[in-house]
Amino acid sequence: MSSGLENLQQALKQLRLSEVAVELPFLMREAEQQSWTYHELINHLLTFEINKRDEKNKMKRLKWAKFPYQKSLEDYDIKEQKSLTARQMKQLKDMHWLEQQYNLLLLGPPGVGKTHLAIGMGLEAIDQGYQVMFLPMGELMSILKTSEYTRKSQITLNRIKQSDLVIIDDLMYIAMDQREANQFFHLINHLYERSSIILTSNKSPDQWGELLGDEGIATAILDRLLHRVEVIQMNDESYRMKNRESVFQ
Ligand code: ADP
Ligand code: MG
Repeated sequence: MSSGLENLQQALKQLRLSEVAVELPFLMREAEQQSWTYHELINHLLTFEINKRDEKNKMKRLKWAKFPYQKSLEDYDIKEQKSLTARQMKQLKDMHWLEQQYNLLLLGPPGVGKTHLAIGMGLEAIDQGYQVMFLPMGELMSILKTSEYTRKSQITLNRIKQSDLVIIDDLMYIAMDQREANQFFHLINHLYERSSIILTSNKSPDQWGELLGDEGIATAILDRLLHRVEVIQMNDESYRMKNRESVFQ
C-alpha cells in the first residue's frame, strides 16, 4: 500500500471515515507544526471524525423533530412562570425523566408557555443525543388516519414510534371519533414504557373522556399516559397577553 496522502485519504474513505479523509491534509500539517506525538495524532484524527459525525447526527435529528420554531429553555423566563421553580427546571433539564420514560403533562390556558417549554425540552433532549418528534395534535391525527394507505404517513408513524421523546401539542383540541380514538390508543400503547411523551393541553385529563367519545378508550389511554407522569399545571396570566406589543404609545 502506497502511503501518499491521496492514498491515505482513499483508504480512509473506504473505511467510511470520510470526514477525516477530507480534513487529512490540514490535520497532517498541524501535526507537523505542533509536533504531535503518534498518540496525539491518532487521537486528533479519531476525535475529528467522531465530532463531525455527532454534529451531523444532531442536525439530522433536529430536522426530523419538525419543531414549528426553535425556542430554548434558556429563552424561557422562569420568573414569568410561577408554577415552576428554578430547581424543578434544572431537574427537567437534566433529562432523568426521559431516561426513565416519564411523561410530562403541561396543562394550562392559552399563552402561558406550554408549547415553548415543550420545544425547549425537545431541543435539550436532541442536544443530549435523543431522538425527538414534535406533532401538533391535528397533524398526528391526520398521520394516523392516512398511515394505512400513504407511504409518507407510514414512514412518519414509524419515526414517531422510534422516537425517545414524542411531543403532542394541544391534545384534545379536536374531538375524535371512535376509529381515531382507537388509533390514538394504539400509538400511546406502543410508546408506553418505551418512550417519553410530552403532552400540552388546555383541558384537564378528567375532560378528555368526552372529547375521546369512548369512555373505555379514554380510560385505557389515561391509564398508560398517567402511569408515570409529572403534571405541570401552568395557570399564570398569559405571557402573550402581558407582553404583547401595543399600537398605542
Ligand atoms: P401556550 O402553548 O401555552 O399557548 P406558548 O408556548 O405558545 O403558549 O407561548 C406564547 C408565547 O409567549 C410564545 O412566544 C412564548 O415563547 C412566550 N412565552 C410564554 N411563556 C414564556 C416565558 N416564561 N418566558 C419567555 N417566553 C414565554
Ligand atoms: Mg401552545
